[in-house]
Amino acid sequence: MGETIIPLADLRYAATLPPVPAQDQAPTGLLSDRLGRPLRDLRISVTDRCNFRCSYCMPKDVFDRDYRFLPHSSLLSFEEITRVARIFVAHGVSKLRLTGGEPLLRKNLEVLIAQLATLRTPQGQPLDITLTTNGSVLARKAQALRDAGLKRVTVSLDALDDTIFRRMNDVDFPVADVLAGIAAAQRVGLAPIKINMVVKRGTNDHEIVPLARHVRDHFGPGVVLRFIEYMDVGATNGWRMDEVLPSAEVVQRLGEVFPLQALQASAPGETAQRWCYADGGGEVGVISSVTQAFCSDCNRARLSTEGKLFLCLFANRGHDLRALLRGSSPAGQPWTDTQIAGAVGLIWGQREDRYSELRGALQADAGSGTRRVEMHYIGG
Ligand code: SAM
Ligand code: SF4
Ligand code: SF4
Repeated sequence: MGETIIPLADLRYAATLPPVPAQDQAPTGLLSDRLGRPLRDLRISVTDRCNFRCSYCMPKDVFDRDYRFLPHSSLLSFEEITRVARIFVAHGVSKLRLTGGEPLLRKNLEVLIAQLATLRTPQGQPLDITLTTNGSVLARKAQALRDAGLKRVTVSLDALDDTIFRRMNDVDFPVADVLAGIAAAQRVGLAPIKINMVVKRGTNDHEIVPLARHVRDHFGPGVVLRFIEYMDVGATNGWRMDEVLPSAEVVQRLGEVFPLQALQASAPGETAQRWCYADGGGEVGVISSVTQAFCSDCNRARLSTEGKLFLCLFANRGHDLRALLRGSSPAGQPWTDTQIAGAVGLIWGQREDRYSELRGALQADAGSGTRRVEMHYIGG
């Protein structure tokens, strides 16, 4: 019998309506999930569109001319995003990351950043606001982003070699423009700058040392290069374990050229293991999502472009916060911030996701019919 094809557009909408507690309960900042993990980090996808077609994220044959991206009316407005962020901050979130798709394609993003920059933690501290971008238009936008209140930025860059880079972004985009974006970010004072390289064995693993050398020589210790293991996110990238280059091998290859010393984690829940160059040339990191799961202190939630809350990068179902933002109670009143916060509290309290720790067992169970949400939709 033939396989049933479910359009991606339908899959990405899978979400449940969050229950609102009958009694108001103001957030305490002390939320904890079933595994005792707090909520500290909210990643916000501001668009599902992208001008690149990295094969590990938005392969061209799926995300082609006929692919239906979300209509503008589906997206959360800046005011709605800021409202959700405020609710999460009351629950203990102190770090916001704007992502996508390509976040810099969202028109007037700096207006959103300026709104988010006014938020304060319950202790009165400003938030750590950052952005992950492919860097394609960063040279043009860096100053406006900085002026709006962005403090730092992460730029994805998978190769220094122009031919390999163009092949990996699959839209023939030149590496020089991304390097110019990083230089512009540095010039306007966005710091620290992080560069993320997704390593695929056989595709760009021979770029590890050249990219590290370039970052050391041209950007200096203020720019931290991080190597990410190629992950089995979504359902379209044709992921294979034999294309994953374990971080341990990255560290070994780098260490043979530039001796490295291990550093302590700088914050609980940090995704990267950090190393410094023994000669004082700066820092590098590895993110070993496949070979060394870090679910046990995962304090991250993700808000999709259209306001669905996801509790894990590998989730196959979200929680429809937009329905609360735009809907009303049975009594016909708009839901209040406290009520929505109550719903978020219930959702987080039930959380027990730890996909990376269970990866092997869950893949063996791949016939269960569940299909994971795509990364460009919930954000990296
Ligand atoms: N478009 C922006 C960018 O590329 O930086 C932001 C969104 S992108 C989904 C966020 C991050 O996810 C990027 O650093 C990207 O390299 C990473 N990513 C996407 N697919 C991945 C995969 N299959 N494995 C590991 N990292 C992935
Ligand atoms: Fe676009 Fe980023 Fe995905 Fe590449 S990784 S396709 S740049 S969203
Ligand atoms: Fe967090 Fe899920 Fe990633 Fe584990 S697999 S670290 S729970 S996002």
